[in-house]
Amino acid sequence: MAVKRDYYEVLGVARQASADDLKRAFRKIAMDSHPDRNPDDAIAAARFKEASEAYSVLSDPGRRRTYDMFGHAAVEAGGGPGVDFSDMPFGDIFDTFFGGAFGGRGRRERSNRGDDLRYDLTITFEEAFTGIEKQVDVTRLANCERCSGSGAEPGTGDETCPGCRGSGQIRRQAQSIFGAVVTAATCPTCGGAGRLLKSPCVQCRGQGRVQKTTRLAVRIPAGVDTGSQIRLSGEGGAGLRGGQSGDLYVVLRVKAHAHLARHEQDTVYELRVNMVQAALGDRIEIPTLEGLVEIAIPAGTQNGQSFRLAGRGMPDVRGGRRGDQYVVVQVVIPKDLTAEQKAILRKVGGLTGKPEKVSKGFFEKLRDAISLD
Ligand SMILES: [Zn+2]
Ligand SMILES: [Zn+2]
Repeated sequence: MAVKRDYYEVLGVARQASADDLKRAFRKIAMDSHPDRNPDDAIAAARFKEASEAYSVLSDPGRRRTYDMFGHAAVEAGGGPGVDFSDMPFGDIFDTFFGGAFGGRGRRERSNRGDDLRYDLTITFEEAFTGIEKQVDVTRLANCERCSGSGAEPGTGDETCPGCRGSGQIRRQAQSIFGAVVTAATCPTCGGAGRLLKSPCVQCRGQGRVQKTTRLAVRIPAGVDTGSQIRLSGEGGAGLRGGQSGDLYVVLRVKAHAHLARHEQDTVYELRVNMVQAALGDRIEIPTLEGLVEIAIPAGTQNGQSFRLAGRGMPDVRGGRRGDQYVVVQVVIPKDLTAEQKAILRKVGGLTGKPEKVSKGFFEKLRDAISLD
């Protein structure tokens, strides 16, 4: 499940962050981690690079939209460097100047691989607890059946591209402040393939792939949480003209539970009791991941006190042991008492605030007098 970090997570902003939020977040990371300030610090350098990449995508509305829909691969595919540092505090001049020149490196192999895709899937808390298999309908580029992905009309082949004479690249020499720089650009005629189809397939117009919706089964392990990703290898977009398929990343969002909050592997239940229950103790049914369980709260339970139900939490997603469930008590002080109830309480508390001596039976009556929450 090793995967690039989410760009929003990298910058530490919400998905709906404004352009200003993004800029502020990036500026802060850039100030802290810029290589000029942290020489020989590989971690800072990696962080700077990661943040720069995230910002370059998210600060461009078009690429941001593409990223939101399809994830990392979609913005990398045609992207390359192209980081605009113009209004940032530190311009990385080498990236800006040479990014284009060196960006063509490895492009040919990479460009044939299909896109990695992102699919956002929402599941319930209970499904995250048990694990579940889900069916998802994924619309993606699939191999064209007419030409079997080759892009050539059946019975025809291809020929060497006249634009680049088969190399896939066009070289140009340009002057820059550093002197002459040779830039290699992808051949626009053949798109870097070096070969041209004699007669493109009429079904896919030579792409070798067509848009298609496919139903896939996704096995979700128990214990996943919001942000967990499941990679379905080879289930992304089909490659160009028979190239390798990309991967599909299913990104999970787990809905909130009606009663339980989650904190890593532990769950938390806030138990509201009235002051009589807290004072006298009680047996109370509470919700757990396995349904209702009766617990005993002892006499003299204080507001904010918590009880631990060992092993009642969420399972570890890697098949490890389960967390615990915490029951945090909130003592609810009654409001809108009737005159009679007030009179009883005054007897218990007295005017000094100290309880008077009362019999056990009296407390039983008090419990009945104050309706249970
Ligand atoms: Zn075709
Ligand atoms: Zn060419």
